[in-house]
Amino acid sequence: MNPDAVVVGAGIAGLRCAMALADAGMRVVVLEAAPFAGGRASSWNDETTGLQVDIGPHVVSTEHRNFMAMLKRLGTAEQILWQRRPLITLHDSRGQLRMPSPRLPAPLHGLPLLPRALSRMSMRDGWSHLRIAWRAARLNERTLRELDVEEAHAYLREMGVRPAAIEWFWRSSMLALLNVPLEQCSAASMMRVFRLMLGRSGWHFGFPKLALSQLYVPGTCRAVVRSGGQVLFGARVRRLRVEQGRLVGVDLEEGHTIDSSRCVLALPPQEVAALAGESGEAALQPLATAARYFRPSPYISTYLWFDRPVTQERFWARTWTPQGLNTDFYDLARIRTSLAGEPSVIAANAIGPMARADWPDGRIVEQTIREVKEFAPLARQAHVVHARVHRTAMAIPQPRPGTEVLRPQPATPVDGLWVAGDWTDTSVPCSMESAARSGALAAEAVLEAAGRPQKLAIAAPDTRGFVRLFRAR
Ligand SMILES: Cc1cc2nc3c(=O)[nH]c(=O)nc-3n(C[C@H](O)[C@H](O)[C@H](O)COP(=O)(O)OP(=O)(O)OC[C@H]3O[C@@H](n4cnc5c(N)ncnc54)[C@H](O)[C@@H]3O)c2cc1C
Repeated sequence: MNPDAVVVGAGIAGLRCAMALADAGMRVVVLEAAPFAGGRASSWNDETTGLQVDIGPHVVSTEHRNFMAMLKRLGTAEQILWQRRPLITLHDSRGQLRMPSPRLPAPLHGLPLLPRALSRMSMRDGWSHLRIAWRAARLNERTLRELDVEEAHAYLREMGVRPAAIEWFWRSSMLALLNVPLEQCSAASMMRVFRLMLGRSGWHFGFPKLALSQLYVPGTCRAVVRSGGQVLFGARVRRLRVEQGRLVGVDLEEGHTIDSSRCVLALPPQEVAALAGESGEAALQPLATAARYFRPSPYISTYLWFDRPVTQERFWARTWTPQGLNTDFYDLARIRTSLAGEPSVIAANAIGPMARADWPDGRIVEQTIREVKEFAPLARQAHVVHARVHRTAMAIPQPRPGTEVLRPQPATPVDGLWVAGDWTDTSVPCSMESAARSGALAAEAVLEAAGRPQKLAIAAPDTRGFVRLFRAR
């Protein structure tokens, strides 16, 4: 084949990287172990209804800037349905809270949210955030990483945040955004999210109007092929071939070898750990050790087809309770163009410790129906005509203490070998945005080494408005 570059993994990171290299005129071979592309953001056909379902429902935000730039390049950016108002609808034991999405400059954008929050917390709970808010405003990306040794729950207590506020706001929001309980979360990962909530206004959520993988898989694959490359499925890389500190090719599981002097591993940490560890190359052992430190955060995603519309809401989130199962809910009939006017199709995610691996599918479906009925009274008269449950062993790696500083840069000690993936050092939480940014960063590094430097990655977001004035220089 003799490609200019090999990209291993056809998830968002690999396809973003491969497209950028192809756009720069390289012949790229993408090697994907699965029979389809998309990885943790893939979609497939539900045989009963013919609907393309995703591995689990995904949401983007206006802060998914690299991911949106990728969609813009592919001509699919308008396939995101943006929701300006409400910012989010929350559901807790006391009912629904529709949170507004004010346009005031940061941090004033938080003020209109306060009355809603104070209906669930006392004034004292609210005031207990002053110290942590000041600390967040002072942080920059470098000082933030110093907090990686601390655990999020202990840090919140140390900053004086009162237990009621931790239980109502922090536990739910960090489970939804970072997928771990506060006791297992890095304070650095938590504060990265909080400083942007505080220091950036105007952000809101968006939802794919069609199957998630349709947004980016066909277009990126076409770009690779158009530039003389190929995307190969069922092509699991089993071994890296390294000679005298240089990458010379990769071996596939079924026996083929592909020679190449450039390779990007756009893979989850456990796969990088295995390939780097088994390469026999001493210089790659620190990368293997770092990658082994990352642990998976599982998801269980449930799809319910109702016989009628059951809600006016597109999207809502349940606050955390020990008895709860799902965190976020979506009515695809209010999001997908192909389902407009149809009965509700509710998709929901159970995240991390809430994804009860020991529950059989029937129990997951029953509990999900119960939770939908608690939110949407119309569902109490409705019938579920079809259901399916997807179990994902790793949605994202857990951002536990110590992981922020272990996220690797694209370059490795082996010439011609780079890494990408949501878990690498992108300065954004593991997500589709991190995956897209990592792919762009890896492509920049490959092109730079080839003597054709290009700027591809969009900078990670930073604080704005008045909050920016307090940031430590
Ligand atoms: C249910 C669910 C809900 C989520 N919700 C959101 C959300 O709302 N918003 C958001 O931004 N993110 C969300 N995420 C996270 C997001 O999907 C991931 O962060 C992102 O897709 C990771 O992309 P990636 O390219 O880094 O990795 P992957 O998608 O894991 O891609 C790696 C690819 O490499 C392949 N591969 C593995 N080993 C080999 C090998 N040896 N040889 C060849 N190929 C190999 C895999 O098959 C895979 O296709 C969610 C994830 C899940 C599962």
